[in-house]
Amino acid sequence: MFGVDLDGVCADYTIGFREIVAERRGVDPETLPLERTWSFAEWDMTPEEFGEMHQYAVVEKRMMANLPAFEGCADALWRLSDAGVWIRIITHRLYVNWGHATVVGDTVGWLDTAQIPYRDICFLGAKPQVEADVYIDDAPHNVEALRETGNPVIVFDQPYNTDLEGPRAHDWSEVEQIVMELAAEKMSVQPQLPGIDAGADRLDRRRGA
Ligand SMILES: [Mg+2]
Repeated sequence: MFGVDLDGVCADYTIGFREIVAERRGVDPETLPLERTWSFAEWDMTPEEFGEMHQYAVVEKRMMANLPAFEGCADALWRLSDAGVWIRIITHRLYVNWGHATVVGDTVGWLDTAQIPYRDICFLGAKPQVEADVYIDDAPHNVEALRETGNPVIVFDQPYNTDLEGPRAHDWSEVEQIVMELAAEKMSVQPQLPGIDAGADRLDRRRGA
């Protein structure tokens, strides 16, 4: 089983959030650097402003329905799924107050639009106890917590996690390669779902058929 984080791994949170912050502040998005630390200090953002801005982005601007997906993510996950890897989406998106229906609905809608395959999905904050064989995450605190409890974690390369030790993937072709190697070594695999053909757009093709 492969535990897959969403923000900063499948979905480009920094790009999506930057558009909304820039619009609300009335500034050019280019003035908010993409090379940022975890705290968004480069955007002159306090933790209080982050909390308020994130809530606004999620609830008012429906950010979770509209984030760009990282290049190659869906195709790599489909190939892993076809190879028998159980994909479990793990996300800590419910830290927004009063926006849970929006967050959950927009998240599963986004996964459909992005054509990302998954067998199940967990919305939780403390990530270690979800029984995956290997994880991918971008957040330094999540990577460290998972590793402290003995879990293998692939770091998805971001400017705020360059201090962490590897394995590190810079894009989804590298993720696929690392997971396939681990799967060959020790992951349990599940047979492919019957009647599903190749390609990330396969569900749309079937719906259209
Ligand atoms: Mg993340």
